[in-house]
Amino acid sequence: MFYGFDVGGTKIEFGAFNEKLERVATERLPTPGEDYQALLTTLASLVKKYDEQFNVKGLVGLGIPGMESVDDGSLMTSNVPAAKGKFLRKDLEALIDRPVKIANDANCFALSEAWDEEHQGQETVLGLILGTGFGGGIVVNGHVISGGSHVAGELGHMRMPVDAWFYLNESADNKSAPLLDCGCDRKGCIDNYLSGRGFELLYHHYYDEKVKAVDIIKNYQAQEPKAVEHVNRFMDFLAICLGNIFTALDPNVVVLGGGLSNFDAIYEEMPKRIPQHLLSVGKVPKILKAKHGDSGGVRGAAFLNIA
Ligand SMILES: [Zn+2]
Repeated sequence: MFYGFDVGGTKIEFGAFNEKLERVATERLPTPGEDYQALLTTLASLVKKYDEQFNVKGLVGLGIPGMESVDDGSLMTSNVPAAKGKFLRKDLEALIDRPVKIANDANCFALSEAWDEEHQGQETVLGLILGTGFGGGIVVNGHVISGGSHVAGELGHMRMPVDAWFYLNESADNKSAPLLDCGCDRKGCIDNYLSGRGFELLYHHYYDEKVKAVDIIKNYQAQEPKAVEHVNRFMDFLAICLGNIFTALDPNVVVLGGGLSNFDAIYEEMPKRIPQHLLSVGKVPKILKAKHGDSGGVRGAAFLNIA
């Protein structure tokens, strides 16, 4: 039995999955605000409850918005204050007497999609989240690649490629591209451009109007000229950035999640626009919408333990 926890800022979701990877139990509880002991007790009591219910010793995976320090194993997270700087994995291991695996939520999202029936057997599955921010997870042969310092897949903090920068500067008559500050204290990280937030921010930059992403998309579908120009620019920009990422990873399948992944034009436009940014022998991988939506975090956390 595989147990997954999706530990978020406001709620903890638990899921139990059988050997066929079917979900057989679900629970949602509020995340204790600042109380670390309460957080540990919540996790441990769910493990004990379902161990008894299923008469097994389930394998436990934790998905969390953050990552473990490779220096000492303490957790770096700003969204779950109770766990910040704590040794969550090791402390939970001691409480429930078994090894625990941990990964950040974007990696869990990617792993959940990689273990979908349709993608099992693919060598490299890249999960990309086009949500409030831009992030990703890399899964090779069914396993998350977390990297030597646990930052593999943090694609949003790659700086904008130089051809994208030139493109943005050339694509508007009278406005140069905005060089945006990032929460990581650097400038020009693509997180601030390729996310849903970036989609709105670029529109605001070029047209001096604050319009929500859903409304820009509606206007685009109604062929409103500014929205069409904006979407065109965004698609080219996205294609240049994805071209770079695909050259580094050459994934077999790419799965998109997050709010902007519901914009169907992305799936029509990327296969047309990316090839010119790849090596001539490079092929655009299949780009698909994520299937497991909000349950991706808990599925991926559980599947961290698939051998
Ligand atoms: Zn950054």
